[in-house]
Amino acid sequence: MAERPYIVGNWKMNGTRAMLPEARAIDRAAQRNMKVEVAIAPPFTLIHAVHREAEQIGVGAQDCSCDPDGAHTGDISATMVADSGAKFVILGHSERRSAHNETDAMVAAKVRSALDAGLRIILCCGESEATRDKGEAESFVLNQLRTSLPETDNAAEKVTVAYEPIWAIGTGKTASLEDIEAMHGAIRALLVETYGEEAGPAVRILYGGSVKPENAREILSLSNVDGALVGGASLSAESFLGIAVAASEAEEA
Ligand code: PEP
Repeated sequence: MAERPYIVGNWKMNGTRAMLPEARAIDRAAQRNMKVEVAIAPPFTLIHAVHREAEQIGVGAQDCSCDPDGAHTGDISATMVADSGAKFVILGHSERRSAHNETDAMVAAKVRSALDAGLRIILCCGESEATRDKGEAESFVLNQLRTSLPETDNAAEKVTVAYEPIWAIGTGKTASLEDIEAMHGAIRALLVETYGEEAGPAVRILYGGSVKPENAREILSLSNVDGALVGGASLSAESFLGIAVAASEAEEA
């Protein structure tokens, strides 16, 4: 496993300032569990406040524009994200690809903007159920990544990949352990091909899709699974921290 396991909460469009005590509880618990790196991506409106609460955890955004500034009503640039206190941004999440028609080319442009603004990125990929049923999951996912993985100097240090089969997000279904391991192995091979024998193995690959405390340990014990991107279960400190504990147990085993 590359570095410490990385457990990232994606709050999606959930949370007002009433959620700040959850963020504080997550941060304080993370200070006591240094074997795991913990981060939260709250909605834009809470980034600054969560950043002020956070002594230990990382704070990130869930998207950014590919444009640096200008007449883009409602959009937030990567520089603004960084200015709000965020250190990373999730890009290419399947909900943005489907609800906002984000193409691989648009995701690649956002990746460049985020890196230019000094942000780290969590680059999401994942296939639909129909693509998996056709036996094309691996080629689909690797193609998504080939289009959007940055290849600039030292890019590997800034990149985390999140494999999230679309049909497992928010559905309670998870991919089989064999399928997760096979896909993460294929992604690792692509990372080594892209970044070389030294940097490629150090890029973290997260699994996402209905991860919860009950299934986290077995998923996080798989080879090339370096952490989890967690949606629903990250909204309560109790369940999110249960996943962080499972990650440290998987690391020790
Ligand atoms: C996600 O949206 O990134 C995600 C993994 O959601 P959930 O954990 O709710 O499936």
